[in-house]
Amino acid sequence: MYLINEVQIIHSFGEFLEDLEMLTYASYLNELIDIALLEEESNRELFKQIVTAYYLMKNKVGDVEILIRAFEIKLLNFTGYGLNFENCCICGKKINSSNYINLSYGGGVCSECNKQGGIVLTNTAYNVLKILSNFPLEKVHRINVNEDMKKQIYKVLSGFIVENYQKTPKSLDMLNVFKEGNKNE
Ligand SMILES: [Zn+2]
Repeated sequence: MYLINEVQIIHSFGEFLEDLEMLTYASYLNELIDIALLEEESNRELFKQIVTAYYLMKNKVGDVEILIRAFEIKLLNFTGYGLNFENCCICGKKINSSNYINLSYGGGVCSECNKQGGIVLTNTAYNVLKILSNFPLEKVHRINVNEDMKKQIYKVLSGFIVENYQKTPKSLDMLNVFKEGNKNE
């Protein structure tokens, strides 16, 4: 019997990850459409969005993660689940920003209202979500977002997707595991 007590990575095949990433994100977009639309339901606007996203991915325009997050927001908007960033989703008061998003009411919560059943985020992350929501997909590459902000945005959007479509997309699971592994390498 041999005992392996030390492992050295000779080549991590990091370049595989890039293609795997694109492939995974492409199937994720398909899965989202599948989750969000009813069978035979057509949505012309969403079709345009997904084609735009594919082109941007193919041409490697900007940060693919941000593009995917922007697509998630468009998906929610075009299927009637757009997040409300302008008013408190509980009392209706006009708000400029917020540090809390209520998932079942679908929007930001003002400083006076009860913060339950939702996700805490920074004001900056809130503002980024708000900007992404109003920005056309082909222009989102202009938006620069750091890793922490990306995590917060992902948490809100994936929470909101599960809340509204009652299904959890699976396409990104494997990629997320790979990415965590690569970070620790
Ligand atoms: Zn309120």
